[in-house]
Amino acid sequence: MTIDLHVHTSEHSGCAVSSEAEQIEAAIACGLDAIAITDHDVLCDLTHIAALNGRYAPFKIFPGIEIRARNYFEDFIVLGIQDAELGKRSWHYEDLHAFVREKNGYILLCHPYRFHDKVPDAIFTHIPDAVEIHSTNIGGCDYDKIEALARHLNISTVTNSDAHQSEHVGIYYNILQGAANTEAELVTLLKTGAHTGGRDDKRIDIFNRRMGKTERLVKKFIRKGKDAQYFTQSTNMWHGYYDRVAMGKSYLLS
Ligand SMILES: [Zn+2]
Ligand SMILES: [Zn+2]
Repeated sequence: MTIDLHVHTSEHSGCAVSSEAEQIEAAIACGLDAIAITDHDVLCDLTHIAALNGRYAPFKIFPGIEIRARNYFEDFIVLGIQDAELGKRSWHYEDLHAFVREKNGYILLCHPYRFHDKVPDAIFTHIPDAVEIHSTNIGGCDYDKIEALARHLNISTVTNSDAHQSEHVGIYYNILQGAANTEAELVTLLKTGAHTGGRDDKRIDIFNRRMGKTERLVKKFIRKGKDAQYFTQSTNMWHGYYDRVAMGKSYLLS
């Protein structure tokens, strides 16, 4: 089964451009078997997910959530838990990790090293199930560090789109050894770690051409001594592009 585990929708993520229907239709169009909807700090409505599954079958839509750990400024995807607490609490990572373990869920560290050179020490004492190594929010300059982290923690890597717009859905995805019908089955399959990464090189090239332009623009702003706020105000673009370039990092994929 092919699945993109990291997809946002404009209905529930303020930063997303494409709607739920657009994201699902894009995933079907690029040949994926399934996606997980992982909006920021909001749990999916299960009745709604069931209706979507009825409408788009045999394509599968799994409910998930992306949670910002407030004590570390790191993001985690949680799958396989339907407890309202998840979307309500302001989580510290250690508490979230304990909660996920207690409920037999799955916790994935998303885009580490995005705005830091280190991951928090708590990652080594409270080990997640997996770490994301590819997405539209992970530049090629961080791959080696992420791979080393996964090896050190002895956990698997996953590859997703982190799509906020439909052009990116399925740009990276996972190929699972088997098919999952329920969330519990998905979590069991993912926990085996027996999956490989899939990618769409043509769209990666298109992404890089656009991102290259954006980063050249950021460099121009930096050369002129303009700050991130000035950049976002005058271009209407996300400050994260500026921040990464200012740190000497890049969003270019490889
Ligand atoms: Zn977002
Ligand atoms: Zn995300």
